Amino acid sequence: MSMRWAVESQSSGHVVRISGSITEEADLHALVALGDGGTLRLDLAGVDEINSCGVREWIRFVRRVSETARGLELVRCSPAIVRQLNMVSNFRGAGQVTSVMLPYYCASCGTEQEQLLEVPEGGSPPQIPTSITCRHCGGAAEFDDLPDSYMGFVGLMHAEGPP
Ligand SMILES: [Zn+2]
Repeated sequence: MSMRWAVESQSSGHVVRISGSITEEADLHALVALGDGGTLRLDLAGVDEINSCGVREWIRFVRRVSETARGLELVRCSPAIVRQLNMVSNFRGAGQVTSVMLPYYCASCGTEQEQLLEVPEGGSPPQIPTSITCRHCGGAAEFDDLPDSYMGFVGLMHAEGPP
């Protein structure tokens, strides 16, 4: 599924909700001027894939946002986005990551679900609950990634300081 986006108005301002796959065909440039001209807030919970060409386009996009002197905030980053944050040092550019989605898998019924985790400003990364209640069967859904490294980008974010 190719990338789609929609602008939503919330009490805290505009948010651009992005979903699907970010590839070389994704028109990220269209997003640069969206919203009210203040901080560009992107909701990335629906992004299920980003390929290597998509990463290149994304980094170009992030750089262009900072050239417009707008702030950039990444909220509800999906596991696919978190993977890139951990692997690609300039993936977020000058952007701030304020929350991520944690993937969970229930081995008894096979249900996958995600849970929001807020990323506090400054300080150490928040604890990841190793298991949560499965919304389908009520059993224990286990965290479905590497708990020691999933939030690794938070340390990098604070070590670098403001741009
Ligand atoms: Zn279950």
